[in-house]
Amino acid sequence: MNYTTRLMPQRKRIALVAHDNKKRELLEWAAWNRELLAQHELFATGTTGKLLEDVIGVPVTRFQSGPLGGDQQIGAKIAEGEIDFMIFFWDPLSPQPHDTDVKALLRIAVVWNIPIACNRASADFMISSALMTGEYERLIVDYQPYRERQVEALIGETRDEPEAEI
Ligand code: PGA
Repeated sequence: MNYTTRLMPQRKRIALVAHDNKKRELLEWAAWNRELLAQHELFATGTTGKLLEDVIGVPVTRFQSGPLGGDQQIGAKIAEGEIDFMIFFWDPLSPQPHDTDVKALLRIAVVWNIPIACNRASADFMISSALMTGEYERLIVDYQPYRERQVEALIGETRDEPEAEI
């Protein structure tokens, strides 16, 4: 498999998201790691971001609330190469109105090889990694062959269909 790379800058662009039952835990974690987080550029879904600003006192670029499209906005930023890293405390015990968005966000983070922490221990390991303090060459699967795949083969039959007689 071929890869391309994308440079993650020293000052990482970190997205934070917490479902309602996980917000307290994320705030505790963020308070504990406030100095480290303050060295990076923070993004968050609407309510999570407001809490981080109000309670922890760190500046955050806020998107819509998750169920109103915030997860999808973060996913779009990942696809555009504008988010490097994600802390996503999702709630494994409650159904969410935007379950499909949650799945899509986790999927797109894997597509673009973004580090993701989905629980507190993973977040601890990630934020304290030596890789956080410097630039990092993130390997990304080279999707060019996929983009250039033979679409003719996919649409050929449709194109060859005779026109319907009137
Ligand atoms: P919120 O969204 O931060 O606006 O509550 C989180 C989510 O459920 O994705």
